[in-house]
Amino acid sequence: KDNNNKNSIQFYSQSLQDASLHIIELEKELRDAIKYHQFELYLQPIVNLEQNSIYKAEALIRWNHPEKGLISPIQFIPEAEKSELINAIGHWVIKSACELVKQLNKHGYNIKISINLSPSQVIEENLFSFIHNCIKEYNIEPDLLEFEVTEGVLVNDYAIAEKLLSKIRAIGMSVSVDDFGTGYSSLAYLKRLPLDFVKIDQSFVKDIVVDDNDKAIVRAVIAMAHNLNLGVTAEGVETVEQLKFLKNNACNSVQGYLYSRPINFESFLKLIKEFY
Ligand code: C2E
Ligand code: CA
Ligand code: CA
Ligand code: CA
Repeated sequence: KDNNNKNSIQFYSQSLQDASLHIIELEKELRDAIKYHQFELYLQPIVNLEQNSIYKAEALIRWNHPEKGLISPIQFIPEAEKSELINAIGHWVIKSACELVKQLNKHGYNIKISINLSPSQVIEENLFSFIHNCIKEYNIEPDLLEFEVTEGVLVNDYAIAEKLLSKIRAIGMSVSVDDFGTGYSSLAYLKRLPLDFVKIDQSFVKDIVVDDNDKAIVRAVIAMAHNLNLGVTAEGVETVEQLKFLKNNACNSVQGYLYSRPINFESFLKLIKEFY
């Protein structure tokens, strides 16, 4: 009996060791990923329903790993968020998004790019000056950049978030609340914070055609957002029926596989050429 116990403790500490080794290894690989240009920003179109135009695109990071191939952000962003690595990756994302805005301009398109900010980036000192410097370096219009923040950081670090978002909006960039409805859902901050859009999380959109509760939630979020002068984007739109419901309920814009998956810049250019 005793022996068994010993073994299980040994086994436990061995797997813990493996796990921390794995994290250290991942950190090193992520550092290399920046150094050796293994990250790539994919773009997913966001369609304005009033104009039926692709007026915006969300930037979504991908990792072209030399051995493992294309790695999804859900496999490394949460890990990166546990260290300062997320700030380095975040800087890379912001710079690259500015570069893409510039490339789009060169091809004759003024399409806004929306950038995801991790909670620890929102509270990062000097984030605003970093963004501001990028805009100047790439010589792009600030109103072609948007930042997506999640509810949690708005509630937990209200004062810091408010300060950053005000500065962002003061120079013409915009701000959206990402994954709306999945987090703390304190509605009070929506009224007080400097915001432009609410993105309804895909979990509410998924069953919108069949689930009366989801219908009610989405209608209520749209009504509330409009009362607060915020635009509404629905995420995860995959079917024409979902699109119809959202159109009929005055949703402003949609994003989802129905229009396009996130794609690389070259494919995105092709897509918008066909769309127009
Ligand atoms: P998110 O910000 O909520 O991004 C939307 C996710 O939904 C993307 O997953 C997108 O590919 C997926 N999606 C879009 N339309 C549909 C649809 O119609 N159906 C379904 N089933 N899914 C759809 P992705 O690209 O794997 O990104 C996952 C998450 O990783 C993002 O969720 C975001 O939280 C994070 N992330 C991605 N890029 C970045 C980045 O540059 N910085 C940071 N901090 N986080 C990022
Ligand atoms: Ca997002
Ligand atoms: Ca989202
Ligand atoms: Ca999400």
